[in-house]
Amino acid sequence: MRFDLTEDQRALREEVREFTKKEIEPKARDLDREEEYPRTIFDELAERRLMGVTLPEEYGGRGEGLVELALMIEELSAGLMSVAATVGLHLGVAEVVERFGTEAQHEEFLPEMASFDTVGALGLSEANAGSDKLKMETTAERDGDEWVLNGHKQWVTNFLDADYVLTYAKTGPEEDAPHNISAFLVPTDDFEVVTVWETLGANSVTSPRVSLSNVRVPEDRLIGEQSEGYVQRGELHTGVNVPARGVGIARAALEDTVAYTSSREQYGQHISDFQGVSWEVGKMAERVDTARLLTLRAADRADRGYDVTREFSMAKINATQAAVDNANEAMQLQGGIGYTTEHDVERYLRDAKLLTIAGGPNEGHKNTLAEAVFERHDD
Ligand SMILES: Cc1cc2nc3c(=O)[nH]c(=O)nc-3n(C[C@H](O)[C@H](O)[C@H](O)COP(=O)(O)OP(=O)(O)OC[C@H]3O[C@@H](n4cnc5c(N)ncnc54)[C@H](O)[C@@H]3O)c2cc1C
Repeated sequence: MRFDLTEDQRALREEVREFTKKEIEPKARDLDREEEYPRTIFDELAERRLMGVTLPEEYGGRGEGLVELALMIEELSAGLMSVAATVGLHLGVAEVVERFGTEAQHEEFLPEMASFDTVGALGLSEANAGSDKLKMETTAERDGDEWVLNGHKQWVTNFLDADYVLTYAKTGPEEDAPHNISAFLVPTDDFEVVTVWETLGANSVTSPRVSLSNVRVPEDRLIGEQSEGYVQRGELHTGVNVPARGVGIARAALEDTVAYTSSREQYGQHISDFQGVSWEVGKMAERVDTARLLTLRAADRADRGYDVTREFSMAKINATQAAVDNANEAMQLQGGIGYTTEHDVERYLRDAKLLTIAGGPNEGHKNTLAEAVFERHDD
């Protein structure tokens, strides 16, 4: 077994790392504080064809796999988690179109999504359908060759700057669950914005609640098989971007801590020379490596076609908690200045906390992991 990346993977990581250092890191603090949308960053990523990194080359993407996606997202998240989140969610919508859409839908949407001229957002959660998505109340009823959608979606990240929401709606009776939910690409103009929340972190991209009232959607906006939309989500793997975001924050917190504790002096010595501090920094490094290994393992096995239910849940739980723990420790080790907005660690902590909740709370992933362990405990 080898743990090395290929030359191409290293080159991609280097490319995104350099981009992040130059284009994201210097702006991240201001973007967060001003709650400013990072439009130029997305435009520049699109110019490098990174907004379509996992989409096939024939549609203008880079045709990369999930390992490459995880590597790229780690780098972006180390710069600013909101950027990584928007890229991850957009590629998640594109994955649904690519995997389950028709040839005509591929032609219509994928080239524009690869160039980020068409921006996708995810409309899965609702007020009463958080962890338990099957409780969604949004409905789609057929009327001739159209569908009529009513309901709302909550926490639609990047809604305000997106073009389409991949909207999940009930198209069948409760007794058919989970085979009673379909996915539609609905233009953002067809929604009404209900609430744009102020959040603890992830400040440069909002996640509003939006509503749909008798919105008519043509048949060719149904993506995938009717009533199989929710079940088909189980086959998606771009969700690995969530643990990868955790790895990015955990690593950024570690790097900042190494730099700070190596230069800050108290009691006539660098604080990194206190064994209590150096052991904590070692622990932070261990968290980063564990989180990254689990995340890349999930990505690699998914790329090779294995069932990664167990690997994905493990990565999600571990890497998102690693981000919270490292950000928290980084703040402790930077003392008072770490508690201010002059340093980045307070943002890491605020951004990290989202990751144990979004993408499904870690408690739900613990259930999924436990089920997978009892079913498949031999490898
Ligand atoms: C900023 C932000 C951005 C988001 N972006 C998107 C997006 O783009 N698209 C989208 O569709 N959704 C998005 N979400 C929604 C996100 O996926 C949900 O918040 C998440 O699934 C949890 O749902 P909930 O908030 O309703 O929490 P609930 O389901 O109400 O859970 C509350 C808490 O109860 C506990 N809990 C829940 N289930 C269990 C269980 N089985 N066992 C033990 N404890 C449990 C957990 O501690 C959990 O945090 C976003 C959320 C936020 C906050």
